[in-house]
Amino acid sequence: MSEQHQNLAIIGHVDHGKSTLVGRLLYETGSVPEHVIEQHREEAEEKGKGGFEFAYVMDNLAEERERGVTIDIAHQEFSTDAYDFTIVDCPGHRDFVKNMITGASQADNAVLVVAADDGVAPQTQEHVFLARTLGIDELIIGVNKMDVVDYQESTFNEVVEEVEQLLKQVQFQTDGASFIPISAFEGDNIAEASDNTPWYDGRTLLEALNDLPAPEPPTDAPLRLPIQDVYTISGIGTVPVGRIETGVMNIGDNVSFQPSDVGGEVKTIEMHHEEVPKAEPGDNVGFNVRGIGKDDIRRGDVCGPADDPPSVAETFQAQVVVMQHPSVITAGYTPVFHAHTAQVACTIESIDKKMDPASGEVAEENPDFIQSGDAAVVTIRPQKPLSIEPSSEIPELGSFAIRDMGQTIAAGKVLEVHEK
Ligand code: GDP
Repeated sequence: MSEQHQNLAIIGHVDHGKSTLVGRLLYETGSVPEHVIEQHREEAEEKGKGGFEFAYVMDNLAEERERGVTIDIAHQEFSTDAYDFTIVDCPGHRDFVKNMITGASQADNAVLVVAADDGVAPQTQEHVFLARTLGIDELIIGVNKMDVVDYQESTFNEVVEEVEQLLKQVQFQTDGASFIPISAFEGDNIAEASDNTPWYDGRTLLEALNDLPAPEPPTDAPLRLPIQDVYTISGIGTVPVGRIETGVMNIGDNVSFQPSDVGGEVKTIEMHHEEVPKAEPGDNVGFNVRGIGKDDIRRGDVCGPADDPPSVAETFQAQVVVMQHPSVITAGYTPVFHAHTAQVACTIESIDKKMDPASGEVAEENPDFIQSGDAAVVTIRPQKPLSIEPSSEIPELGSFAIRDMGQTIAAGKVLEVHEK
């Protein structure tokens, strides 16, 4: 096990090999229990099948999918020397965007899988755009299925060029991006440099994952702690609980809950059933604040320093990407917005600009409507007070998902908050 933890998203067009790659990573890092492999080895030998170990992992994943388990490759874990990785949901999975935004599966970095025989496809574009919108730091690009194109360097170079073009269009930093020719199925350049690609002298995928920059905990930002629940505990009193997104909470701090607009001094902080003097980003805490009763605060409030309280939006401007909507979105539309732990109906008051998702440039001023696949800048009016922050200042509190009809229909990040 390693000390440092990373959440990793695997993104890319359907059928380009995301599940196979996850299976391969689990297999190569020995993350599949030995007794399970052993059992499968025996079964496979009885049936006279070859290549059984890797096949086991894939069968297992396929079986989960057949049983209708929504999270198949998500929440799988593997380790390199530097990191313990958790695979988070993939875009396309039902709740990926919502989970990313509500912090359940915020990914630090991502592997983009692009099949060498297909190149950049519609979902490649969509996922790269989403990854950038949702604040993924670094991308590793696995040019997959190299076996299908006879490990040709020229095909690899063509795909690299196509992807570089795409990254430039959505203004993703390309300097740090590594491109690796791989075969998830055959195992080329995953754990060991492959003899099939003598023209490639870069890192293997596992080396590139191991070399990712460590996620920096946002301790320097002001405290922001979205409240998940509020309990009453005998002997202590009111105990709000939640996960610290940014900043540090110390006993004795003067805090404010917004939008409930109450506050006081932090008396106790508890983590894993133990009292602690302070808590940091990523810590799940329960705490008690002098003078705050159970009905004074609620889920969806954000706790912050009294002298730098969480922003409460009367309106806010945001960039949104429409992922799936059966018809069109016009001004006046009022779906439910999910931001951190808050769920608030918000009206899209105006559609200010439609953006070209490929170039990031303004495609149309004040369009009448937007639809699936569109990116736009919109002005939003929450129907109830909502605490939210500009993404440029506190990205952890600056994104949201828009849900309607049981689906995530759009995702966005906050550009500007207009307070009361
Ligand atoms: P996903 O939809 O992106 O998760 O793609 P899958 O992992 O389900 O793969 C789609 C198909 O491509 C499956 O039939 C895989 O066996 C196949 N596949 C995935 N990776 C490779 C590869 O590196 N080489 C070859 N030849 N086939 C692959």
